[in-house]
Amino acid sequence: MDIYFGVLFFLLGSVFASFYGVVATRLPEGKSLLGRSHCNHCNHQLSWYELIPIFSYLFLRGKCHHCHKKLPIYEPIIELFMGIFFSISYFYYGFSYELWMSLILISLFVLIYISDFRYMIILDSPLIISSILIFFLKWIYFGIQEALISLFSGAILFLIFLGIGFLGSKIFKREALGGGDIKLAFVMGESVGILYAIIGLILSTFLALPYATFTLLNNEDREVPFGPFLISALCMVFVFYEKFTTILKFIMFH
Ligand SMILES: [Zn+2]
Repeated sequence: MDIYFGVLFFLLGSVFASFYGVVATRLPEGKSLLGRSHCNHCNHQLSWYELIPIFSYLFLRGKCHHCHKKLPIYEPIIELFMGIFFSISYFYYGFSYELWMSLILISLFVLIYISDFRYMIILDSPLIISSILIFFLKWIYFGIQEALISLFSGAILFLIFLGIGFLGSKIFKREALGGGDIKLAFVMGESVGILYAIIGLILSTFLALPYATFTLLNNEDREVPFGPFLISALCMVFVFYEKFTTILKFIMFH
């Protein structure tokens, strides 16, 4: 039975990844989500057998069946990655609160990586849908009081980020935190609580440091997307929650 569900979660992950790829590239370009996918080169409409996650890429040997130009390799990689992570989440957590949270966070991770690195945008709709899902998850597993507290924590984090962004823009004379980062802070506070979300914020600056330094050293005058590092830190805090708790207790009682 375990294997059966493991495979099911893998398939679910890869199908969702394929959908997220469409969401994270069409919405920032102002395109509709409706309508079949096209080949980026020749605009040929893809048939059903060209839309199966991972397999279509292998079956077509990485080329458009119509114009024989190369298909983007990152798509099957993301599909494989999400399939594996959905499946691992199931084996690791079983059917529990952590499993559903994990699926939400993996989804946000993929969506934010694609849209923020490519378009410097964090889409509103995934953040809104995630915060609603997290609210109901907390309600179902821990009761309405916990669910309301999580909303409050989200609001506090939102305000903290708003403050940091305001100060940052005063000091650096340019936008320090994007609107998307500030909205993502809400989801951070909501999912792991105020203290752990702040730990996540600190962690994310360390994660972003090598990339930001690299960009600066190459004299590239472009903004560094912060969203991917925030969501990475949030995922780390979520997965290693107990480790962080041990460290915090150690610091407080010594
Ligand atoms: Zn083509």
